Amino acid sequence: MSIQCDPDSATTGLMWFRRDLRLDDNAALAHALRQCGRVYGVFVFDREILDLIEDKADRRVELILQCISEIDRLLRQRGSRLIVLHGKATEEIPQWAAQLGVDAVYANHDYEPRRIARDEAVRSALASQGRTFKTYKDHVIFEKSEILNKSGLPFRVYTQYKNAWRAALSDDAVAAFDCDGRPGQFAAPLDDVGIKDPTLDAIGFKKTNLAMTGSTAAARGMFHDFLRRIDGYGETRDLPGITGTSRLSVHLRFGTISIRELVREASDVGGPGATKWVDELIWREFYNMILHHFPHTQTRAFQPAYEALPWRHDEPQFAAWCDGRTGYPIVDAGMRELNTTGYMHNRLRMITANFLTKDLRIDWRWGERYFARKLLDYDLSQNLGGWQWSASIGTDAQPYFRIMNPVLQSRKFDADGAYIRQYVPELAGYSSESIHAPWEADSAEQARAGCIIGKDYPSPMVDHHAARAAALAMFKAVKENPGVGSRG
Ligand SMILES: Cc1cc2nc3c(=O)[nH]c(=O)nc-3n(C[C@H](O)[C@H](O)[C@H](O)COP(=O)(O)OP(=O)(O)OC[C@H]3O[C@@H](n4cnc5c(N)ncnc54)[C@H](O)[C@@H]3O)c2cc1C
Repeated sequence: MSIQCDPDSATTGLMWFRRDLRLDDNAALAHALRQCGRVYGVFVFDREILDLIEDKADRRVELILQCISEIDRLLRQRGSRLIVLHGKATEEIPQWAAQLGVDAVYANHDYEPRRIARDEAVRSALASQGRTFKTYKDHVIFEKSEILNKSGLPFRVYTQYKNAWRAALSDDAVAAFDCDGRPGQFAAPLDDVGIKDPTLDAIGFKKTNLAMTGSTAAARGMFHDFLRRIDGYGETRDLPGITGTSRLSVHLRFGTISIRELVREASDVGGPGATKWVDELIWREFYNMILHHFPHTQTRAFQPAYEALPWRHDEPQFAAWCDGRTGYPIVDAGMRELNTTGYMHNRLRMITANFLTKDLRIDWRWGERYFARKLLDYDLSQNLGGWQWSASIGTDAQPYFRIMNPVLQSRKFDADGAYIRQYVPELAGYSSESIHAPWEADSAEQARAGCIIGKDYPSPMVDHHAARAAALAMFKAVKENPGVGSRG
C-alpha cells in the first residue's frame, strides 16, 4: 500500500508493537518508516495486564515471548533490536519516548475499551512532552463505522453486515503495507535500554505446555497448509476430530499474520470453501464492530430485554463444567481440550457454551470469564459475541429457543467418537455408537468398555430434556414479561 510522504531524516519514531507482532504488512510500522529517518521498535510486558493474571503459567505470555523473539531476531539482522520493557505501558512509553528523543510514537488501533483508555493516557502524556501518538487501522479490514447501514447506523444482523462488507471490499483495502525500510533505518538502542534477555522468569511467569509456535513464519506455514485444504472447509469445519479449520485464530489475535494477507490470498484461491472461510473472518469483524458500537455488551446482554433472565450461580455445577465432569462426553471433551491446550474447536465452543447457559442456566458471564482465562486466542469482542450468541441474548437472528442437544451434536459432528476418545480417554473403550451417551449402555457393555458410568466417569449431571424445558420456561417468562426475572 503506498503511503504518501517521504521520510524526514531528522525525525525519529518509536514503533510500539502490541497485538500486531510482525514486521511484515504492518500499518503503523509502514507509516513510521515512511515518516521517520530512524525507527526504534518497542514491546511492553504491561504490568497492568500481567499483574491481573493469577496463574503464572500462562500459555499466552509464553507465546508472546516467542513472537517478540522473532521480531528481535529479524531486527538484529537489520542492525537494530527490539526494546523489551516490563512495567506500566502508560508510564514506560512516555518515559522511553523522552529518553530516546523520538518525535512520535506509532501503534495500531486497539479496540477494547480498557486499551482505548490506556492509549488515551499515553496520548496525553506524550502530548504534554510535545510528542505525537499516531495510530492506524491494522487488525481488521473494516473498523468502527466504516460499514454502516443505509441510515448510517451499525448493523445488528451479521448477514446484512457481511453483504455490505463484501460490497465495500476493494484491492486497496487488502493491499499490503511495505515495511522493508531503508538500510540503517531501524535504529539500534544502547545496550542498557530495556530487559537484556527477556525470559518468562524475568517477568514473573512460568513455562507451560504450549504446543504451538508464536511467529510469523509459523503462522504463514499454517496458512499455506490450510490453503491446500481450503476447498473442503465447508464440509470439514464442523468436525472437531479432524484438522478441518485453519487454527489461525491465535495468530490473528497476536497479529503474527496480517488480515489483509489472509483475505487477499483466500480470495485469490476462490471457490465455495474460501468464500465460507472469508465469511468467518467477516464474523470476526462483525463482532469487533459490535463491541465498538455497543460497549455495554462487555457485561450486559446485547438485547436489553434479556438482562432480566434469572441466571443461576451454582458454583459446584460450574466447577464440574469447567473441569469437564458434566457426564456429557462431547461437553467434557471440549472443556478438557480447552484446559489442556488453550484451544477449543468452534463447534465445541458453541456446544459447551450452550450447555452452560441452557442445560445448567448458569450466568453466561461466568463462562465468558472462564474462556477469557484459558483461551490462547482470547479476544474480548469475539468471546462476548460467541457467548452472547450461544446464550441467545446477542445478535443472533434466530429466535431465543436455540437449545443444542449435546448427544445429537456429538453423533452428528463426532460420529466415530475420535474427538471424545482423544480428550476423554476413559471412554475410549466404548463403541462409536455408545460413546455419545455411555450411560445408556448396559452394565455388561460398560464393563467391557472398562469404564463404569457413575464410578469411572460421571453420570450426566442433568437430564437434557428436563433442562431444556426449564430453559425454555426461563426465556419464555422473560420474553412475555420482561420485568419478571430475579437473580438466583
Ligand atoms: C462461545 C464462543 C467463544 C469464542 N471466543 C473466541 C475468542 O475469544 N477468540 C476468537 O478468536 N474466537 C472466538 N470464538 C470464535 C471461534 O470459535 C474461533 O475463532 C475459532 O474456533 C478459531 O479456530 P480457527 O482459527 O481454526 O477458525 P477457522 O474456522 O479457520 O476460521 C478462521 C477465522 O475466522 C474467525 N472465526 C471463525 N469462526 C468464528 C466465529 N464463530 N466468530 C467469530 N470469528 C470467527 C476467527 O478469526 C478464525 O481464526 C468463539 C466462539 C464461541 C462460540
